[in-house]
Amino acid sequence: MLFWVLPQTPSLSQVILIDPGHGGEDCGAKTVYKKKKHKPKNICEKDLALRISKKIQSKLKRKYQVYLTRTHDRTLSLEERAGLADKIKADIFVSVHLNSVSSKRGHGYETYYLDNHKDEAVKKIESIENRSAKGEELIINQILADLVIQRTAPSSKRLASLIHKNITKRVKSKFKLTDRGTKPALFYVLALSKRPSVLLEAGFISHSKEIEKVLSDSFQNRYADGVARGIREYFKKKKKFSLF
Ligand SMILES: [Zn+2]
Repeated sequence: MLFWVLPQTPSLSQVILIDPGHGGEDCGAKTVYKKKKHKPKNICEKDLALRISKKIQSKLKRKYQVYLTRTHDRTLSLEERAGLADKIKADIFVSVHLNSVSSKRGHGYETYYLDNHKDEAVKKIESIENRSAKGEELIINQILADLVIQRTAPSSKRLASLIHKNITKRVKSKFKLTDRGTKPALFYVLALSKRPSVLLEAGFISHSKEIEKVLSDSFQNRYADGVARGIREYFKKKKKFSLF
């Protein structure tokens, strides 16, 4: 008896836009990494964000159409990043960042989705990541944010929790990291993208021990793998629900 096995051709129907935070003139968070017997090294959030984003892309590109808002070190406004999401008709938008605090004590990874909240600690992170939006632009963006929240918050929250769950499985115990959870925040780049979206803070480059982990290829690979697994799970579940 003959069995015909159909080859697994990827549908490539879903479109993912990965956004490496900052770039070009905007370094994002900065720190000096000091390792014994080595010259101190300047570290910029933008470079790490790009490295992790490329790893996420390579883990997903066989099954989905995956684009990056930037593939090299260049300046890009929040509007340009979000505009690209419209142009390529992205189903989801994932912005990749790294955290930093002046006290140098903060540590751990966290995942944000777009929603209103009253958390003062989150407001501090927002002010850093929203830096390039100012004045009048902020007011317009607030109106836009409210409209986008109404439409996308449940999907964004589900996407954030699936990504975060998979990141936790891949990095928490292996690298002894603190799980800071999934949180709502008003990041304008997410609002402007107008689709289910998340913003990842992969770790603190201001923490002397955490930066060593975050800089390692092994952390970046496992973290990217967690993000990719979460995205796959999101699309799989979405497909199942859309049958009814
Ligand atoms: Zn950032």
